[in-house]
Amino acid sequence: MFDEILPDLIQKNDTKAVFLVADGVGGTTVNGRTELDAAKTPNLDALASKSSLGLHYPVGYGLTPGSGPGHLGLFGYDPIKCQIGRGILEALGSGMTVRRGDLAVRGNFATIENGLITDRRAGRIPTEKCIELVAEIRENIADIDGIEFDIKAARDYRFAVVFHDASLKDGVDDADPQQTGLPPLPAKAKHPDSEKSAAIINRFIDEVTRVLADERPANTCLMRGAANSPDISPFEEKYGMSAQGIAVYPMYKGLAKLVGMEVPDGLQTLEEEIERLHATFADFDFHFLHFKYTDSAGEDGDFDRKVAMIEKFDAALPSILELEPDVVVITGDHSTPSSLKLHSWHPVPVLLHGKFAFEDDAKRFTERDAANFGILGHIPAQAIMMNILANCGRLAKFGA
Ligand code: ZN
Repeated sequence: MFDEILPDLIQKNDTKAVFLVADGVGGTTVNGRTELDAAKTPNLDALASKSSLGLHYPVGYGLTPGSGPGHLGLFGYDPIKCQIGRGILEALGSGMTVRRGDLAVRGNFATIENGLITDRRAGRIPTEKCIELVAEIRENIADIDGIEFDIKAARDYRFAVVFHDASLKDGVDDADPQQTGLPPLPAKAKHPDSEKSAAIINRFIDEVTRVLADERPANTCLMRGAANSPDISPFEEKYGMSAQGIAVYPMYKGLAKLVGMEVPDGLQTLEEEIERLHATFADFDFHFLHFKYTDSAGEDGDFDRKVAMIEKFDAALPSILELEPDVVVITGDHSTPSSLKLHSWHPVPVLLHGKFAFEDDAKRFTERDAANFGILGHIPAQAIMMNILANCGRLAKFGA
């Protein structure tokens, strides 16, 4: 947001912001109550009473975002301009590092017999077998025509490949005949710029098929969703704040890395995430901390468990506030109402606490209080970062 003027307004100081994201925390009413309404949240209530509240639209009115665009919006990037292609998403979800200019592609192990694809999923081989095959490929293929690549097993028969070469442009049709009984379909360039990418993907398929010649049922692969990493200006460059992303799941670690945050590995629980926050609080200006389980419970359609997860998140709050960050923001990357069992388009409550934040009349961190009393109103997700910068005293006056 305000990309043209932001570089002139950013000013540095030693303030610290903590950005807590409870994934999918927003909901919609079931018998008149949302999960946030139903949860007992003494710590969130206490903080809400001395904070500004509002509701944000992650991508736009009526749009149901994936977690990728949801987080990009929270980090202040335009999720429509910075779209994350399928290949990139698969690579991030597999815990791979994606750099600017990389080309990422999703792969499926498949079966080929007498020149025809007979199973597009190689008998749905288990993940352990997939890991084995990926290791075999890694051992036997150093590069593709001099281009370095990373490959990582995903779930079942799926894997992701990241080619490190900025000359590889996306715009390649899937190398997947979509049905069995047909010969493999080579990757085809959609425009002259992507011809090299198509050629490299086809070379990769040939090499994999050569290496796996004696394997059954996985003796070839199909490649889909080729995508370049979005052209994102790194977080610190954009905001002048050094930043870390503390998360347990690969997808969110990947998203944080994508915008240039430092991301620690090996964290398994919320307790460990908070420990890390304490240990490194002095080292960064901006700390993004992700909590996954509100979303998982919503997607399972389990109202009570989502309530319990919100309460767990609430219980962790005091140990975070102990650090006395200058600004604390609490929100979600989208809503995941348990009544829908899916992400949704509903606006998400957002809480902003800081020395200069207006104490409005909201008394609870709920959709209801945010709508009825929240001074932030209904805002696009990208406005949250602007509010953080302003409340940190990091935005100079615009104009004379
Ligand atoms: Zn999410």
